[in-house]
Amino acid sequence: MATIIDGVKLAAEVRERAAQAVKELQAEGVTPCLAVVLVGDDPASASYVRMKERDCAEVGIESRDHRLPAETTQKELDELIDALNSDEAIHGILVQMPLPAHLDAESVIARIAPAKDVDGFHPESLGRLVRGLDGFRACTPAGVMEMLRAYDIDPTGMNAVVIGRSTIVGKPMALLLLEANATVTVCHSRTRDLAAVCRGADLLVAAIGRPKMIDASYVKPGAVVIDVGINRTEEGMVGDVDFAAVEPIASAITPVPGGVGPMTRALLMVNTVAAARRATAG
Ligand code: NAD
Repeated sequence: MATIIDGVKLAAEVRERAAQAVKELQAEGVTPCLAVVLVGDDPASASYVRMKERDCAEVGIESRDHRLPAETTQKELDELIDALNSDEAIHGILVQMPLPAHLDAESVIARIAPAKDVDGFHPESLGRLVRGLDGFRACTPAGVMEMLRAYDIDPTGMNAVVIGRSTIVGKPMALLLLEANATVTVCHSRTRDLAAVCRGADLLVAAIGRPKMIDASYVKPGAVVIDVGINRTEEGMVGDVDFAAVEPIASAITPVPGGVGPMTRALLMVNTVAAARRATAG
């Protein structure tokens, strides 16, 4: 029987701490403010944005909504980013991904002022992570690290296997685990004998996007299993891990829903408060 890592409860605690920090900033006359940019009308993106704005309201962060039509041009989006960059009242800028195909997401991410890059996707934020410098960490992997800390799981010396090498999850996850003194292996779609590599893991992070792919044959008994996957299937939202099969052999496991997802959102609040704090101090 594994410990079920409760992302909902932990995320509420993280938001509560962020709300306290907001109160302290407000006492200094500063209200943290997050600009939320949504281009187009993808229903999943719209729902993510609504949840993020609800979190802001709970924590006391002001959110400014910028909804742009799907046919917005690159120039129009660039101009909005420039305006948000130079608006001192705005501390964080979130551009909801994915953008419509005619827009260049990489150049939009790079255009955001690094000081307002609360998603942690900007090349400067990633570069700072690689160099071990302070900076914004991508919310999903940062949320995973917060979960490990909260459950006293110290990655030091562990064999950690991260499945997935995306810039928003897999790569920063691997770097954060390395920073936490794990011995890290990054796997991906071309990895040979993935199950055998995964069975060597004391800590297994699945960020693949394949429903229930990770069954018991991938998991060493007693391993910690973190499921980042969000897959919408006929049976509802499921992770990349076959929870029913893996839970009996893992020492700790995150559920989907109710695991990494809520923590990702909570860390966006933490990053926005940190951005406001730095802007105020700076
Ligand atoms: P992505 O598609 O950018 O990357 C997926 C990675 O998985 C790739 O590196 C690919 O090489 C690897 N992969 C694909 N098939 C594989 C296979 N058969 N064997 C081994 N590796 C394989 O996805 P992403 O943006 O990193 O997201 C991964 C998952 O995490 C998705 O389900 C996404 O919805 C979810 N996600 C969740 C949160 C959250 O808050 N919980 C945040 C971001 C992403």
